Amino acid sequence: MTSFLYVCTECKQKFARDTVRYLCPDCGKKYIPGAPLRGVLEVEFDYSEIAKCFTKANPDWELFSAVEKKYYPEYPVGGTHFSKASRLADKLNFKNLWIKFDGLNPSGSLKDRASFLIAAEAKRLGEKKIVAASTGNAASALAAVAAAAGFEAIIFVPESAPIAKLVSIVQYGAKIIPVHGTYDEAFRLSLEYTEKQGGLNRNTAYHPLTIEGKKTVGLEIFAQNNFTVPDAILVPVGDGVIISGVYKAFYDLMSAKITNRMPKLICVQAEKSNAIHNFLQTGKYQNAQDPATVADSISVSAPSNAYMAKRAVEETDGFSILVSDQEILNGQTMLASYAGIFAEPAAAATAAALAKISKQQLLASDQQIVLLVTGHGLKDINAAMKNITIPKAK
Ligand SMILES: *Cc1c(COP(=O)(O)O)cnc(C)c1O
Ligand SMILES: [Zn+2]
Repeated sequence: MTSFLYVCTECKQKFARDTVRYLCPDCGKKYIPGAPLRGVLEVEFDYSEIAKCFTKANPDWELFSAVEKKYYPEYPVGGTHFSKASRLADKLNFKNLWIKFDGLNPSGSLKDRASFLIAAEAKRLGEKKIVAASTGNAASALAAVAAAAGFEAIIFVPESAPIAKLVSIVQYGAKIIPVHGTYDEAFRLSLEYTEKQGGLNRNTAYHPLTIEGKKTVGLEIFAQNNFTVPDAILVPVGDGVIISGVYKAFYDLMSAKITNRMPKLICVQAEKSNAIHNFLQTGKYQNAQDPATVADSISVSAPSNAYMAKRAVEETDGFSILVSDQEILNGQTMLASYAGIFAEPAAAATAAALAKISKQQLLASDQQIVLLVTGHGLKDINAAMKNITIPKAK
């Protein structure tokens, strides 16, 4: 580990790591439930220290970790496949297409990375209880790591979440509190719970280490890509924490002078769950009115990390793109049948977006492009059945 400070993304005040940190104590006051978070904190390492110690020949990734390894849970997260997808590339007229399949994490989604680091932090703080609101995957991820490491997990989740996600949460032994209404409502209730009853809150972006946890996927892409930076990475975006985490990975690498450029980050959202896309297009933030989409994991009215997500796209010279539910379902089938990657709808939105990008020639065909595939298809079989028919026995 390297020493670090928390920096407020709005007022730039710095805070020591001493205790539990959520939002900036000043800017956080501007947060009103039902709107994006304000005063999200970011980890700033001692980059000259990393530059001194890091070597490609013998990379010590703990230098980039905000929690010491000795607190890590005994739970295998990350190290997922990164592979070339030439057949899918041919279909979409690209030459150098890669897939990072994070559905291969133990609970089936990239969310394991955030839950893992939060569990490590809980252990460091001597906290026994972890609380989260989730559309399903964060909850499942937290429940899983809590089971392995012996934490009590309390989870607020919309009762409309896909059944496989709810089943896994209960199987892992977490306490589940189903919520009428949307994820935004679950988020509000979970904050109320930790304020009154304690426990470490794992809510995405609210706890700054969720961004650091998700960052590891970016570091892995860099390492697995022979220590080179791809030209573009497509990221499915709900709350905007994954895309901020990927940004942070390449920001850290550049700040430590290990790399000298950023990949273009491409924000993929569903047509109706489009708050960050609109924010990027108009410069003015507005909640998505009715964020309903088949891609439940990216369905959110008020993305908690909207400001950082916008910055991640703008500062990498990326762009955002919307995909319809039908395009997402087609993308899911295409990803499965041309790359052998069965992804849940939110994750398949990246393939849907790439098809559109190909048609509109938004990226040059010889660029190295990475699809970040964030969740496994078996997490939502009902959605996957919408676009196919299973032959009946005669
Ligand atoms: C949570 C999630 C996303 C979106 O991540 P955000 O940080 O909310 O933007 C995308 N895909 C899957 C599978 C997820 O679980
Ligand atoms: Zn601040």
